[in-house]
Amino acid sequence: MKPYIVMQKCPAMADICKVIPICPTGAIRYVADARERLGGRIVIEETLCNACGRCVTECCGQAIAWQEEGNPA
Ligand code: SF4
Ligand code: SF4
Repeated sequence: MKPYIVMQKCPAMADICKVIPICPTGAIRYVADARERLGGRIVIEETLCNACGRCVTECCGQAIAWQEEGNPA
C-alpha cells in the first residue's frame, strides 16, 4: 500500500504542511499550480515512498490515506 492525498481535505500550503519535513525519504513536496483552487498542491512521489506511514499519522488535516493496491482512489 502507498499513501495518497485526499485533495479536498488538504489546504495545500507548503509553509504549514507538517509532512513535508517529516517524510524520511523526501517523497513529499509542494507543487505550485495556478489551476488548483488554492494555487498549489502537495504531492507524494510514489517511487520515493517506502510506505513507512509517518505522513498518514502526522498529516494536519487527516488528508493522507492508504491506497489499496489495484484499487486506485
Ligand atoms: S499536513 Fe496533510 S493536510 Fe496539511 S498541508 Fe500537508 S498534506 Fe495537506
Ligand atoms: S509513507 Fe513514509 S516515505 Fe511514504 S510519503 Fe509517507 S512519510 Fe514519506
